[in-house]
Amino acid sequence: MPYRQTLSALSAMLERGEISSVELIQCFLDRIGRSQDLNAFITVDEEGALAQAQSADRSRANGHTGALTGLPIAHKDIFCSRGLKTTCGSRMLEDFVSPYDATVVERLADTGTVLVGKTNMDEFAMGSSTETSWFGPARNPWNRSRVAGGSSGGSAVAVAARLVPVATGTDTGGSIRQPAAFCGLTGLKPSYGRVSRYGMIAYASSLDQAGPIAQSAEDAALLLQAMAGFDPRDATSLDKEVPDYTSALKHPVAGLTIGLPKEFFDSSVDESVGYASHAALAEFEKLGARLTDISLPHSAAGIPCFYVIAPAEASSNLSRFDGVRYGYRTESYRDLNEMYEKTRAEGFGIEVKRRIMIGTFALSAGYYDAYYRKAQKIRQIIADDFREAFRHCDYIAGPTSPTTAFALGEKTNDPVSMYLSDIFTITANLAGIPAISIPVGFDNTGLPIGLQLTGQSFDEPGLLKLAYRYQQATDWHRHLPKDFS
Ligand code: GLN
Repeated sequence: MPYRQTLSALSAMLERGEISSVELIQCFLDRIGRSQDLNAFITVDEEGALAQAQSADRSRANGHTGALTGLPIAHKDIFCSRGLKTTCGSRMLEDFVSPYDATVVERLADTGTVLVGKTNMDEFAMGSSTETSWFGPARNPWNRSRVAGGSSGGSAVAVAARLVPVATGTDTGGSIRQPAAFCGLTGLKPSYGRVSRYGMIAYASSLDQAGPIAQSAEDAALLLQAMAGFDPRDATSLDKEVPDYTSALKHPVAGLTIGLPKEFFDSSVDESVGYASHAALAEFEKLGARLTDISLPHSAAGIPCFYVIAPAEASSNLSRFDGVRYGYRTESYRDLNEMYEKTRAEGFGIEVKRRIMIGTFALSAGYYDAYYRKAQKIRQIIADDFREAFRHCDYIAGPTSPTTAFALGEKTNDPVSMYLSDIFTITANLAGIPAISIPVGFDNTGLPIGLQLTGQSFDEPGLLKLAYRYQQATDWHRHLPKDFS
């Protein structure tokens, strides 16, 4: 069954001529059609995908191929895609069609991937459960009454249910890693500056990064290879050589030191999550890594610090949605001010409004020093904590999220408890460093558990290698939800 294969395996099947891209795309489109209750996609482009597949098959026949030619992919609906709707999960952009492609979309199209659709997400990437989406929540394929995580929940659902072999996501505070953990996948948030943000609708510009949501470290490496690299159109993208991620997978783990921050193994962590994390760490020891206790003393300040900085940046970024230039505009209004007010009142959902209000407040004269400047100082202290920790270890490990996927509706009326599900992921964004989540087991109700590994800036090869070596020794990443196997 082709849908059960990893991206790497499908690439080999296409290469050997065992299947055509058109057949492959049709297989996945059929699965998407049968799994609409998961609400993984906002847009599916059957016709476009089949046309791209035909052209990929022609290129293959003419010998013009790369590793990704003809392989299906889905993009989070935060990436602008020419000719296809880009909604960002919001009513504000419900009918928006971008005139250009995001760099990530363009690069993946250049390598020959076939874009089958755009995935569901929390509105403007604000959320941890995909429940703030204007298009309704995505459902976790491991248990449909559970959330998929967020904000890249649709991408995680699509890969977990094998509606596509791989998808893109973005991560501002955990939005790749937490849904990857909740859905049993491998999700990598690269270092800040590694992947271009051009054409990726901005949430919090100093924190946002795009990355792969995949079945395995090997697939994540393949996808990151195509996504990463300098882009003159993004002033924060770094002009630094992109290493060969696939060949880095084979490097040994023996001799490396993995630090376990005591703050990541506290009482907030579910017993099953703690247990699976320790079992995974024991596996790393078997592979030759050494474990050592460390401390990230200011971790607890991560959430409050993030919830000043991210809303502040968001309030500025979202000021462009004013009903004048593009996107939603209210139907009737008397004057310009009323047009602005009604457009934004009707176009944004409650969580987005909450962020805009907090951000505007934190940036306002008189409060700027008390909140925004203070948060920036704490951000620096958190980055310094990591720097200090990396003097004692090569990587840092802990649970990706304190719990497994929670129930739909469980946290929607309690924003702070929702925010806390990112407690272990958020600090890597504040420090700009890379982190990966890998599946390491299941709780007693059959929901996946993720382990997070964090590295130093631009050490994506090291993280992918650790994940790959672990996945060579275990098979958690090969499990499929029973309705989709
Ligand atoms: N859950 C966090 C928030 O709501 C982070 C989301 C993200 O990484 N995009 O802001």
